[in-house]
Amino acid sequence: MDISLVIPVYNEEENLEPLYRKIKEVMEPLEKEYEVIFVDDGSQDQSPQILDSLAREDPRVKVIHFRRNFGQTAALAAGFDLAQGEVVITMDADLQNDPADIPRLLAKMDEGYDVVSGWRRDRKDPYVSRILPSTMANWLISKVTGVELHDYGCTLKAYSREVVKGLNLYGELHRFLPALASWMGVKIAEIPVNHHPRRFGKSKYGLTRTFRVILDLILVQFLLRYSTRPIRIFGGGGLLSLFLGLILGSYLTVVKLFFHHRIGNRPLLILAVLLIILGIQLLSLGILGEFLTRIYYEGQNKKPYVIKYTAPPQEGS
Ligand code: UDP
Ligand code: MG
Repeated sequence: MDISLVIPVYNEEENLEPLYRKIKEVMEPLEKEYEVIFVDDGSQDQSPQILDSLAREDPRVKVIHFRRNFGQTAALAAGFDLAQGEVVITMDADLQNDPADIPRLLAKMDEGYDVVSGWRRDRKDPYVSRILPSTMANWLISKVTGVELHDYGCTLKAYSREVVKGLNLYGELHRFLPALASWMGVKIAEIPVNHHPRRFGKSKYGLTRTFRVILDLILVQFLLRYSTRPIRIFGGGGLLSLFLGLILGSYLTVVKLFFHHRIGNRPLLILAVLLIILGIQLLSLGILGEFLTRIYYEGQNKKPYVIKYTAPPQEGS
């Protein structure tokens, strides 16, 4: 299998048939083996029935039906698990992304990139509620993660099989996929893609998404930087706090024992005790984090590294 398209669907009944026809128009001339995986994320309209009839007509169409609405990230994750293609392309079901861009994504992948990200340069969405927050979010995510992209939010992206299979997705993490993938040492490219206004159905998100995205950004940053060595962030602060606390404590002890001053009423005493307790807590948290990291990696047979290849080729790589 060459190409898998993964498309999350939530209440998109009017969009599905035109989307399928467009995909077919674009994919058939490529003469590659492809599959279209629709993930029905608990739709309450006619989408499930329409998808099932598409799957009956065309064996290249596969449909996953969720029991309820689990969200776009979960839908993409389910599609990734099923995908067999060497290249996995994600896109929205609402006709805002244009299947006509797929050949250009594929051409870029052929140049040796592991991730090719769509950039909706001329985005057709409301400015205040969507484009403005999204511009700020893209800037913030780029600065914080160090993976500079203009458009994290664009679903139209291509990934190599290795990237997709090596990632676990939770929460709203799908919009950080390129940043998460950067941990594996991937080559990322960006190309401008078409964008159309939504004609049928409603957008599923509003402004509240911004806050969830910020929380996820903190998490992603933590995963990327410290997930294999939590003792370094907690431990550093812990040592510093413990050190300061001990110095203050020693000073107060000297004052009490040799100069016979009263120290019971001094704010410094409270600070010293606070710093010592905080230091011990942070150190313990770091050590606990280390244990959790070990359970995480060993329990899932994950490795703290990713191999490109070995020479001569070894079993299982
Ligand atoms: N979607 C989904 N589950 C959800 C919300 C959205 O599968 O809980 C799908 C939706 O059907 C669409 C894509 O995710 O194919 C993007 O959603 P939408 O167009 O509402 O987002 P926007 O383009 O406005 O950011
Ligand atoms: Mg949309």
